[in-house]
Amino acid sequence: MNLVWIIGKRFKPKLRIYSGEVVVSKIERIFMLSNIDDATLARVAQALGEEDAIKMIEILKSSEETTDDEIANKTMIRLNSVRKILYKLYDRSLVSLRRTRDPKTGWFIFHWRLQPDQLEGFILSRKRQVLEKLDVRLAYEENHDFYYCYTAGCKRVPFEEAVELVFKCPTCGKPLMHYENERILIALSKKVEQLRKELGE
Ligand SMILES: [Zn+2]
Repeated sequence: MNLVWIIGKRFKPKLRIYSGEVVVSKIERIFMLSNIDDATLARVAQALGEEDAIKMIEILKSSEETTDDEIANKTMIRLNSVRKILYKLYDRSLVSLRRTRDPKTGWFIFHWRLQPDQLEGFILSRKRQVLEKLDVRLAYEENHDFYYCYTAGCKRVPFEEAVELVFKCPTCGKPLMHYENERILIALSKKVEQLRKELGE
């Protein structure tokens, strides 16, 4: 499970019912993505493609405009990879591109510039997505009664499903007992509230 999961796939609450500990740690992880700071920029870069994007964004942040050659030299990342990642960032409007021609060789030189406002917009839209997912999750937790066998590795099931299973865990066979999801509800509500505040909603 990584950040690509958060960004790339739709949230399916029914398929993702885990015990409290796991859910809370997942919420934490999702939420870290939504804080605007260097760590988040790094995480966003990571989510966009390769780990190398982090180093590249650092270089892009430190100068007004940079060429792919300069980035490759400063980061020691292969030029091909640098270009591949730059185009990924460009695709999402996170960097802009200016092209000039080298008077000696006649070759094109690409000048890249970080788009901080776009970056902010990118993070805001990710935050909104995270908020939507957490809202769905919260509603699901609020509207269901859960049953659990209290065995590590087994999943909680909602009441309706527990009835069908005659209150027997489908994985380990132990009896299913009522599961208090208050901790999850509190954690989710906190994150939702904080995100709303950050988004000015
Ligand atoms: Zn079980």
